[in-house]
Amino acid sequence: MAHAYDDQNIFAKILRGEIPCTKVKESAHSLAFRDVRPQAPEHILVIPKGAYVNYDDFALAASEAEIVDFTRLLGEIAAELGVRPADGGAGFRLVSNAGRDSLQEVPHMHVHLLAGRPLGGLLPAD
Ligand code: AMP
Repeated sequence: MAHAYDDQNIFAKILRGEIPCTKVKESAHSLAFRDVRPQAPEHILVIPKGAYVNYDDFALAASEAEIVDFTRLLGEIAAELGVRPADGGAGFRLVSNAGRDSLQEVPHMHVHLLAGRPLGGLLPAD
């Protein structure tokens, strides 16, 4: 069952134009903008325009058109940033937090694209 979607979350407000964002790129079904608290020189959030709480909701409920659009937009951004390993770029990391254990802060599906410095191990040691 899909989670209830809170249309007052901050990314829903960005999508409605109620609060600003630093837009990187937009497509028919997706939007990419810079994270306000960047953790790497390039820290971009890619979100679907549809009302999905997190990655699993999106993967299971979004249309094929939305999923292809989202995935292609991520690839285009990586290419435009010059970080694609295939093009000699230094690489990047994608992260998508979902739910309590991940400490997901904003309940609208998003993928973090991080690049521009060595990114360390997958998870902090604790
Ligand atoms: P998560 O923990 O995966 O839900 O991450 C949410 C991310 O959204 C954090 O990295 C925040 O810095 C970022 N964030 C929160 N509010 C905004 C905003 N208004 N514009 C851009 N990024 C934001």
